[in-house]
Amino acid sequence: MARIVMKFGGTSVADLDRIHNVARHVKREVDAGHEVAVVVSAMSGKTNELVGWVQNMPKVAGSNAPFYDAREYDAIVASGEQVTSGLLAIALQSMGINARSWQGWQIPIRTDNAHGAARILDIEGAEIIRRMGEGQVAVVAGFQGLGPDNRLATLGRGGSDTSAVAIAAAVKADRCDIYTDVDGVYTTDPRIEPKARRLKKIAFEEMLEMASLGAKVLQVRSVELAMVHKVRTFVRSSFEDPDAPGMGDLLNPPGTLICDEEEIVEQEVVTGIAYAKDEAQISLRRLADRPGVSAAIFGPLAEAHINVDMIVQNISEDGSKTDMTFTVPSGDVDKALRVLGDNKDKIGYDVIQSEAGLVKVSVIGIGMRSHAGVAASAFRALADKGINIKAITTSEIKISILIDGPYAELAVRTLHSAYGLDKS
Ligand code: ADP
Ligand code: ASP
Ligand code: MG
Repeated sequence: MARIVMKFGGTSVADLDRIHNVARHVKREVDAGHEVAVVVSAMSGKTNELVGWVQNMPKVAGSNAPFYDAREYDAIVASGEQVTSGLLAIALQSMGINARSWQGWQIPIRTDNAHGAARILDIEGAEIIRRMGEGQVAVVAGFQGLGPDNRLATLGRGGSDTSAVAIAAAVKADRCDIYTDVDGVYTTDPRIEPKARRLKKIAFEEMLEMASLGAKVLQVRSVELAMVHKVRTFVRSSFEDPDAPGMGDLLNPPGTLICDEEEIVEQEVVTGIAYAKDEAQISLRRLADRPGVSAAIFGPLAEAHINVDMIVQNISEDGSKTDMTFTVPSGDVDKALRVLGDNKDKIGYDVIQSEAGLVKVSVIGIGMRSHAGVAASAFRALADKGINIKAITTSEIKISILIDGPYAELAVRTLHSAYGLDKS
């Protein structure tokens, strides 16, 4: 007997038929004698609809920003998961399975106060464990918890993955299965590159980079938690026949295992390609080249909660003036320009330029640590396709390249084949 947490994403619970199909996956594990807790997302499209309603509320005077209180945003957008947890509990009960739905506040899943992007601080797992021991399946609403103000708090988009891994850690599950609409983690998004290959295993560090650089198959925070708490996490498909051979395999279920790099025997140099759309570039021209200028730029941006990513500063020719370029999410450009405009005298620049609609394409692989020339191959491959590079950043295990939006798919496919990822 094992203890398993199963998470089903939006497309897996998109309608009543799919919810019944999910119930069959759960039944398979229950019938095998395992203790099971389930985490569900809202039906696909539901959270977007709820967010859209909030954004269509009145705007702040003199601005394009919607007027809303983050606690009420959470009260609204958390409702999608409440519905699916109840529906799945009923579907399971109709199959003769003892099941009960749980909202985040009922467990409780305690979070911090960052409404809309809260972090899980603690989960009281005892009651769920007790009930699992009695043969009851807990169906938990993902994406939500209870803030220190005793109000609903949501975990940021894609947050049900994090709910699942956090619950798996809290109940000391043997495995956490993230069921989605693809049968594992691929070398790149299979919707963009049909030649992408499914990975049998991927290291935590690589999955962290893939997720934070745009592969939305897992929320970044869920990977961090899996890594810290050593949760054995698989990404697998809910669309396969629940009773097909091997689906109930305890140690090697079909899908991709996220694991320590030591578990990966044949490490490739490059493991995957990720991309993030809707990046924007801001350049400050002819800045004074003196100590404190970066702090004067990025301090006010941080205070305004603007996420700055790639930063490039030129070495000045004459030692007095320089240029600074950095990226922010496209949605934050107006706000960033306002903040920089307000601080123009303190920063001391000549002109600001900005460009939205850019894409960041990233090459990821632990093998890069010990191989030279990986970046050069990317630059050559993109040059051969006439794709211009606007900015580059690197770390030990990734190279990120900023390009014009319309080249996104071509760049992903080009890099994917440049590193031989389309060959088995
Ligand atoms: P869910 O609703 O189940 O949470 P998501 O839409 O959040 O599912 O994540 C699954 C999607 O992630 C896939 O449909 C796929 O298009 C996308 N994706 C992006 N990069 C990858 C990748 N490297 N491997 C697998 N899927 C990826
Ligand atoms: N329903 C939420 C979202 O769409 C959480 C999730 O699906 O993981 O972001
Ligand atoms: Mg998701």
